[in-house]
Amino acid sequence: MPAGRTHGAPRIDGETLLAFGTRLRAWYRRNARDLPWRATRDPYHILVSELMLQQTQVSRVMEFYPRFLERFPTLEVLAAARETHVVAAWEGLGYYARARNLHKLSRAVVREGAAAWGDPPSNGRATLPPDAESLRRLPGVGPYTAGAVSSFAFERRAALVDTNVARLITRVFAPRLDARRARDQKRIWAITEATLPRTGKATWVHNQALMELGALVCTARVKRCGVCPLRRLCKTYQRRM
Ligand code: SF4
Repeated sequence: MPAGRTHGAPRIDGETLLAFGTRLRAWYRRNARDLPWRATRDPYHILVSELMLQQTQVSRVMEFYPRFLERFPTLEVLAAARETHVVAAWEGLGYYARARNLHKLSRAVVREGAAAWGDPPSNGRATLPPDAESLRRLPGVGPYTAGAVSSFAFERRAALVDTNVARLITRVFAPRLDARRARDQKRIWAITEATLPRTGKATWVHNQALMELGALVCTARVKRCGVCPLRRLCKTYQRRM
């Protein structure tokens, strides 16, 4: 098994990468929470959930997500709404730039989407582009959100790294890397990409599992190594032994 290409990051052998993914995804299948945005592949709904989840706890997003989508069920409805109404519906979640950007994005996609990203879908509804690179060009969409929408809505083989994922990846593979340093961020992305499975379908599970393990087991406050499926591979765990 060839070693994973991790661009300046520590070299990780292929067997370790394979074991990481297999254990991670098996754990997810047994332990995943039932969250509403995991039951859909609607790109707009997934984008809304991802933007809400930035800076906001899951329990709070659970309250706002269905309410927001009831009010603005499609990109077209959102694009037709006034910005003040969109921001008002976001009230209580904070970080209102997210709502403003989402509104701007809906207008850009409804206006230019089909022309910019190919034919409109058969049902005639405006949608988002499937690949992370095109998603990055939309207002308020950074590399994490682009990877999340591409993999969770379109089941593309796209990596994602947020704070939880960066913490998990560094603890397992490279405890010396610091996600606050730009140079190290690139390395963390490279390692995360090297862990991806071959198919987009498996990538959906893999990315959900990275997020879930970082949220439930390997958290910022506590490392629950005793119940962690990765402990045999984990450098941070090995250092503590
Ligand atoms: S073994 Fe511990 S430190 Fe390593 S990933 Fe699991 S919880 Fe985190």
